[in-house]
Amino acid sequence: MQRARALIRDVPDFPKPGILFRDITPVLGDPLAFREVIDALAARYRNQGLTKIAGIESRGFVFGSALAYALGLGFVILRKPGKLPCKTYSATYALEYGHDTLHIHQDALQKGDRVVVMDDLIATGGTAKAAAELVTQAGAELAELCFVIELGFLKGREKLQGLPVHALITY
Ligand code: AMP
Repeated sequence: MQRARALIRDVPDFPKPGILFRDITPVLGDPLAFREVIDALAARYRNQGLTKIAGIESRGFVFGSALAYALGLGFVILRKPGKLPCKTYSATYALEYGHDTLHIHQDALQKGDRVVVMDDLIATGGTAKAAAELVTQAGAELAELCFVIELGFLKGREKLQGLPVHALITY
């Protein structure tokens, strides 16, 4: 993961003073780094009995949809309020900076689905916890929560109370 790691850009005081934002857009802009990330994730999740990848809006859509394509799986979107047109389940959570709610279409997953949730980064783990709740509320089995980056010092894994978590790059 050396190429991707080297391309992650640190942006101090964004979006608020005191936050060191880990910007993955240079990774997306570099074809070899983007492929390095998706290939590593595809190798991990191939032949694991998965049926769907679920991506968290919006950077989770980028990595998650590429991963779903690489694995030949369907893709489910976990979205911010007011975006999904049909009946949803929702979960509200606290962010490293602020609060937000995630929604999933009620019919996006079924019993028997085995799902990996994808996002670019886990910080305090609040977003990931809400995503895990939505996947199970929709009737599916959560196989793993997967991130390109983990901010280990924020102890997001502890909030997830034993749920399986995987990250490619840890700070
Ligand atoms: P959390 O719920 O605290 O784990 O926050 C994770 C979500 O917030 C992810 O969707 C990240 O994209 C975003 N996020 C939080 N902190 C940062 C950071 N320092 N750099 C980049 N994205 C962040």
